[in-house]
Amino acid sequence: MDSTVLLDAAVVTRCRRRVHLEHDPAVAGTSRAALDATTARRIADAATHRRFVADRLAAYHPADWAEVSPGLPADQRCSATLALLLGGAPFVWGGLLLADPESGRRGGVELLVRHHGGYLPVIVVRHKVTDPGSGARTSSLAQPGLVGTDPKRKVRPQSRDQLRLAHVVRLLQAAGLATRGRATGGVIGLEADVVVWHDLDAPTWPGGRSAMAEYDARFADRLAVARAAATEEEPLAQPSRITECRSCPWWPLCGPALRASRDVSLVLRGEDAVALRAAGLSTVDGLAALDPAGDPPVPMAGMSFRDAVLLARAWQRDLTLVRRNRRITVPRADVEVDVDMESFDESGAYLWGCLLSGSDIGMPSGYRAFATWEPVPTPDEARSFAAFWAWLTEVRARAAQRGLSFAAYCYNEQAENRWMFSSAERFAGAPGIPTAAAVQEFVSSGQWVDLYAVVSAEFLCAHGKGLKTIAPAAGFGWHDPEASGENSMRWYSDAVGLGGAPPDLTQRARLLTYNADDVGATRALRLWMSSEQVNDVPYAGDL
Ligand code: SF4
Repeated sequence: MDSTVLLDAAVVTRCRRRVHLEHDPAVAGTSRAALDATTARRIADAATHRRFVADRLAAYHPADWAEVSPGLPADQRCSATLALLLGGAPFVWGGLLLADPESGRRGGVELLVRHHGGYLPVIVVRHKVTDPGSGARTSSLAQPGLVGTDPKRKVRPQSRDQLRLAHVVRLLQAAGLATRGRATGGVIGLEADVVVWHDLDAPTWPGGRSAMAEYDARFADRLAVARAAATEEEPLAQPSRITECRSCPWWPLCGPALRASRDVSLVLRGEDAVALRAAGLSTVDGLAALDPAGDPPVPMAGMSFRDAVLLARAWQRDLTLVRRNRRITVPRADVEVDVDMESFDESGAYLWGCLLSGSDIGMPSGYRAFATWEPVPTPDEARSFAAFWAWLTEVRARAAQRGLSFAAYCYNEQAENRWMFSSAERFAGAPGIPTAAAVQEFVSSGQWVDLYAVVSAEFLCAHGKGLKTIAPAAGFGWHDPEASGENSMRWYSDAVGLGGAPPDLTQRARLLTYNADDVGATRALRLWMSSEQVNDVPYAGDL
């Protein structure tokens, strides 16, 4: 058995090819993509959040608190952790467990809590881990032992969290330091108010599997992939384009390889590409040659077979867009508003940008923004949302009074809807905040138009359906060459002075320009879709 491969918890949710590449000596010196700004920001934010939680826990348990310094070399961290655990320390923060060459595991965990003579792992994450409801097993940070059922929270399933915990449970078991009984682990989420405990032996996964069983199967697979790579045997994982590729350091290697082989995953993602390849159809050209009206060689999960074939043909011709239908239709109205909301992670929606156009209703046309520049979460978000809602309601009312039709547009309504409903719920009773029923009336009124859905119905998009990809076809360009949703997160951090720096007013202006451009882009897109120019886009049936 090769004992040189040691894997941490991340491998079980990571691309198999990436696991291969990370252990393949033949590519050890290959240059990789630098960490993108978004990933770097997420890592920094997660570290800040972990420190915040650690300080809060330490304040509750000053006499029982022990930390293993992250600055120590790994072997010293391991021995310091082991000494604390063998000494029965009640809480150990930042521990690194002994690697287990036999099983191929290594890793650490944010917190180890002594419980019934052993230790329970607790991870700290920067996402929500519960929703309103009941049934979660929680305990307070002041007493993070196992307690009963929470009457106010239900668990938000986070498979990645459970798999991370399972990894640590196996490491603790190998060291003889796990709490006996059912495999259990805790998560402290974004709110940092409770520990949510997961029964990792419960059959809550598809097929009645437990998190432990799922973890064991995935880990065994990744271990085989890594060991085959390390010993330069036949690779057990090949590249296939997936969402993870966007931020993967190995894309400079995989991207050209996929393009060179004209791999079918360039137009299909995930399971469909894997299934087609398994059926012997591995190239875009092979897919493009099939009859779109025929039977698919394998059942398709992500899109219809017809669309898949036509997308492959569009890709062959390097077309960003093709028309599904000869005539393009998009809802239009006398009075029109383009809306774009900006949020910061799970913390709040800090900006509602609106572009009013069309018939005169006695209100200034053009762009206006409803914003709070107090860092979210803040009660001031209620004020800015109420102002947005009052303005939108006024526009609707004036249009109705004049007998004019009205429509409001967004690009992918999920985000806007989520924050409208969330604001109605979070700020219920505050001045000007609509009820959830009022929000529901608006989003289901027929006046709220999701242009993303319209684009999806009218076009096949070989390079994605993001607004930044599609709007240039309508001749629209953003003022800021770095405009992107991901970058806007970084700008927001600076704009409100997260992390203690003074607020950067130039970044506020940058965000407003970016938001104004986003609503300008949706307007340009629908004007173009209503024009004759849209007929310059090739029709799918002609490919
Ligand atoms: S670029 Fe994509 S296929 Fe290649 S290792 Fe990364 S995630 Fe996997």
